[in-house]
Amino acid sequence: MSDTVQIRCTRCKSAFRERAKRLQPGYSRQCPNCEVIIFFEESAIDKNVQKALLDARRLRRVLREQEEVKVTAPQPAVYDRTST
Ligand SMILES: [Zn+2]
Repeated sequence: MSDTVQIRCTRCKSAFRERAKRLQPGYSRQCPNCEVIIFFEESAIDKNVQKALLDARRLRRVLREQEEVKVTAPQPAVYDRTST
């Protein structure tokens, strides 16, 4: 599973990807196509920025849940204590 989210540049409309862990409020990223700096703020009126932040937050939660599964998975569950 990818840990990156898609960002669409408002200026040149090109799409690129950034890691969800880095894409948080306060983060800024230069568009690789037109080189405009995109600022990711919760208060941004740019719909593309809002969506990227939302996607990143959602993805971070999913990735965190996967990490927790990985940590707890190796221990075998013992349910059948009553068997003889
Ligand atoms: Zn651009």
